[in-house]
Amino acid sequence: MAGMDFLQVELDGYKSRGIYNYVKVVSGEQSATCVVNGQKVVNLSSNNYLGLATHPKLREAMIDATKKYGAGAGSVRPIIGTMDIHVELEKKLAAFKNVESSLVFVAGIAANRGTIQSMLASSKKGDDANFAVISDELNHASIIDGVRLTKAKRYIYKHSDMADLARVLEEVKDAPRIMIITDGVFSMDGDIAPLDKIYELAKKYGAITMCDDAHGEGVLGKNGRGTIDHFNLHGKWDIDMGTLSKAMGCLGGYIAGTKNLTEYLIHQARPFLFSTAHPPGVAAACIAALDILESEPERHEKLWANAKFLKKGLTELGFDTGNSATPITPVMIGDEAKAIQFSKKLFEEGVLGLGIVFPTVARGKARVRTIVTANHTQAELEFALDKFKKVGKDLGII
Ligand SMILES: *Cc1c(COP(=O)(O)O)cnc(C)c1O
Repeated sequence: MAGMDFLQVELDGYKSRGIYNYVKVVSGEQSATCVVNGQKVVNLSSNNYLGLATHPKLREAMIDATKKYGAGAGSVRPIIGTMDIHVELEKKLAAFKNVESSLVFVAGIAANRGTIQSMLASSKKGDDANFAVISDELNHASIIDGVRLTKAKRYIYKHSDMADLARVLEEVKDAPRIMIITDGVFSMDGDIAPLDKIYELAKKYGAITMCDDAHGEGVLGKNGRGTIDHFNLHGKWDIDMGTLSKAMGCLGGYIAGTKNLTEYLIHQARPFLFSTAHPPGVAAACIAALDILESEPERHEKLWANAKFLKKGLTELGFDTGNSATPITPVMIGDEAKAIQFSKKLFEEGVLGLGIVFPTVARGKARVRTIVTANHTQAELEFALDKFKKVGKDLGII
């Protein structure tokens, strides 16, 4: 096999394993009901929790800032890409999160890679090989990527299992630097990490704590301040990582914490140092999103009312919704082929719920994942429940 020939072999392999995929295309807005591949569907697959992606104030802020500053930032952040509007966003984020400082990256994935890589680096050569990084087994791919960029010894604890975390901590207790990383809300199950218990263990062993709150932001805590606020761990939890891409309706990742933390990252984090700053319009839209979180708390309330309604409906129909405690509600199917078939039939009926199989989740734990937003109407959710009932009966799941 020469040159690029392997591509065809790989693609054929995906097809024979039944995992060959194509990218779905949305025509028009990202909304509660939208047109996907030409088909009108109730959308239960977005991360647009508060419906901010299409909010008039975000659109306006983005247009106004683009008129004032232009389309692009023109440079990486540390050279000449940091505009006053980027700094304004970071100040607002820090205030919202109740911390000293924040630092914005172009995306959540960049924030995780840059921060984890930096926190486990050392200016003393060879030191970093003795550090220990401890990760929940269900952590997001971007955390795993970040961990791979370090020389630290890697440990994984069973999902949210504090006895297992304690076991690992005992094993690594002599490491000169220990860091524990967890998602705040797990993206495939919708369950909440026990940050209070993780904090207690971390304190005992002098470990650094980091939480990826991509799905807690805008969802948990006062006005959507996130999982750390939910557990009231302000000033105790070390590193709060969030995205501006999901509930905030736009794009970006950030780190919230102490001034020392963000100052250190400015010197160390490669995605901050070597990637161009957000377009000013993005920063402006994110600022508008933060204002809306404070000024329109009814969106947050509606999100939770919708989440409860859909969860209750699915449970009453006889589906197993796992351990979800948030607007992410999985419908557990088990069998991989059946989960894919379920999702396909739902789509034909006009509902978009993602079929999720191995390796994204463990074998035998295939599911259809649903995510509601504040923008869904009662009628849309009733329509979706009706279709879940029909397909569930057709496939013999309920
Ligand atoms: C989506 C997601 C990210 C990545 O955020 P982007 O801003 O989309 O790059 C990181 N962590 C988790 C848990 C996520 O769900």
